[in-house]
Amino acid sequence: MSDSTPLETLLKEDRSFTPSAAFQQRSKYANPSLYQEAQSDPFAFWEKFANQLDWMEPFSEVCTWKPSDPDFSEAKWFVGGKINACYNCVDRHAAGSRADKIAIIAEGEPGEVVKLTYQDLKVEVCKVANALKELGIKKGDRVCIYMPMVAELPIAMLACARIGAMHNVVFGGFSANSLHERICDSQAKVLITADGGFRRGNVVPLLKISREAVEMGTSSLEKVLVLERVGSKMPETTQLDSKLEVWWHDLVTSQSSECPCEPMESEDLLYMLYTSGSTGKPKGIVHSTGGYLVGTYTTTQIVFDLQEDDIYFCTADCGWVTGHSYTVYGPMANGATVVVYEGAPDTPDKDRFWRMIEKHKVTILYTAPTAIRSFMKWGTEYPNRCDLSSLRLLGSVGEPINPEAWIWYHEVIGTERCPIVDTWWQTETGAIMVTPLPAITATKPGSATHPFPGIQVGILDEAGHDISQEHSGGEIGGYLAITKPWPSLTRGIYGDPERFKQVYWSRFPGKYFPGDGVKRDEEGYLWLLGRVDDIMLVAGHNISTMEVESALVDHHSVAEAAVIGKKSDIKGQSIAAFVILKSGIESGPQLIADLKTHVAAKIGALARPDDIFITAELPKTRSGKIMRRLLRDVAEGRALGDTTTLADPAIVNSLKAQYEDKEG
Ligand code: ATP
Ligand code: MG
Repeated sequence: MSDSTPLETLLKEDRSFTPSAAFQQRSKYANPSLYQEAQSDPFAFWEKFANQLDWMEPFSEVCTWKPSDPDFSEAKWFVGGKINACYNCVDRHAAGSRADKIAIIAEGEPGEVVKLTYQDLKVEVCKVANALKELGIKKGDRVCIYMPMVAELPIAMLACARIGAMHNVVFGGFSANSLHERICDSQAKVLITADGGFRRGNVVPLLKISREAVEMGTSSLEKVLVLERVGSKMPETTQLDSKLEVWWHDLVTSQSSECPCEPMESEDLLYMLYTSGSTGKPKGIVHSTGGYLVGTYTTTQIVFDLQEDDIYFCTADCGWVTGHSYTVYGPMANGATVVVYEGAPDTPDKDRFWRMIEKHKVTILYTAPTAIRSFMKWGTEYPNRCDLSSLRLLGSVGEPINPEAWIWYHEVIGTERCPIVDTWWQTETGAIMVTPLPAITATKPGSATHPFPGIQVGILDEAGHDISQEHSGGEIGGYLAITKPWPSLTRGIYGDPERFKQVYWSRFPGKYFPGDGVKRDEEGYLWLLGRVDDIMLVAGHNISTMEVESALVDHHSVAEAAVIGKKSDIKGQSIAAFVILKSGIESGPQLIADLKTHVAAKIGALARPDDIFITAELPKTRSGKIMRRLLRDVAEGRALGDTTTLADPAIVNSLKAQYEDKEG
């Protein structure tokens, strides 16, 4: 962003959706006084929820931070308390009224369904925990997990938490190189993997890839525990290497079903996890035990209005933070029934999610804009052939949701009945930070609305002044910052304290800087505008990529768009758009002219794209986020930056070739 102009706010959205009376009546959190209560004493607010968890030793102080502290590094949460995350997610339910309640409904891509009650889950987790102990894992050790999204993945995570080992889950789509890097970086002693997993009708050869990673050499790895998932479908890995590898069914099945939970200090680390890599080389983020659990427990309960009979389906893989916080720790700390799905949303057909919702009577669906845009591209016939009437709440996470995608989600999936929570947060924040509360907030498509109760945000200008304090009305835009500590904030980047300081704390000392731009409209709603690195400076105006993308997606022929600022001698940057058309739409000079006119009419001439490039695909991270920095590299003819988390390198290479062809 330039220092002369604040962030322009171009997109206007007048549609607003209030929670229905029926939804409000059922909700425990329909009273807006929740915000005032948390605002007036955030520590007391968090303490109230912390006290709903089971502590082995009570904490003596909620948080050590004082307003006079220069930054959050002194913020220790629930000090003196001892707690075990697995105990809170499993044992306390298994020992109580939820013993026979279904904890996990796991559906494999081929279609088989496994259901585990909380009692079953406890037995499985204890066995894996004992197996890990037999492999020499102790409190404080690191365990790398590289598995398909089957029930054994959350089981392995919880087993680590039970014995105080940090897990480091690596998404099953990553290459041997990335896996190797993550094993080495975390100094993992054990790798838990599977012979394979099912994805889009194919077998992902996880053990084969694991072997390649191990062969690259690691100084820490002692054993590889292998779940048999695909068997003879992967003939190369039906035999194990007897020195290093051991079958899950040989080691785990015979273990005792009792295993004590390790008492952990509240600040002891629970896990490490790499960010998606949208903006550069991924960061190995670590999370604490007590604060993280309180953050995820509280937000799950309030944001998803979670109730005892809900069937909750978060479509994120446990390879991402969403799978950690909102498939495993948050929902299970609340004793929820969670649906876990192994495969792709279009296998065997493009209605897979909708079939699952119908079959398992899912009430809460939490998914990502990238998925919603694919569903839009595929068309309404797929959801329309299924009974989605069990749904009562929808969520979105991962990227800004374009208003048109929001409306589609609302109308086609939510059949205009279900509130939508657009939740802004990051791997680093551990839990949801900006979000509607479904029984309280009137939502606007594309706005994540307000900070979660107890979270304090600021909007900063280039000099770090909090303009949200100075301007009471009117629209403002700038850098998002979080100005007070909260329990689930990351405790750092594993093994790299310098990078941690530099990335999040150096630009605006004393405040947490997530790296995203934001605007606040005159009604006080927050609109997340994407990464500040992506913000374009066009003829002296700062313009967010998200607003131009949303204006393009608003056109009836466009399915998806990525916008970048490209160096220009005249304007500083010129706007280039990469656009995917809806199926059946023909490209041509007239359409391109129409799209430019549409953007200018929708949000202003200033934002009119100089170049529009029609493409079949966009470069995305393996978690499905658009990697604009690679598009900038393509447009400016540079060598590509870090591509280790790029889902499909072929896409960016073909874009590069096409682009050079056109420019040349
Ligand atoms: P890296 O940090 O490696 O570049 P990443 O930021 O994509 O990767 P995550 O932690 O998975 O990794 O994603 C967090 C980011 O995703 C946020 O900083 C924000 O830019 C974006 N994001 C998440 N949810 C939303 C949302 N509801 N609205 C807008 N943006 C969102
Ligand atoms: Mg990030």
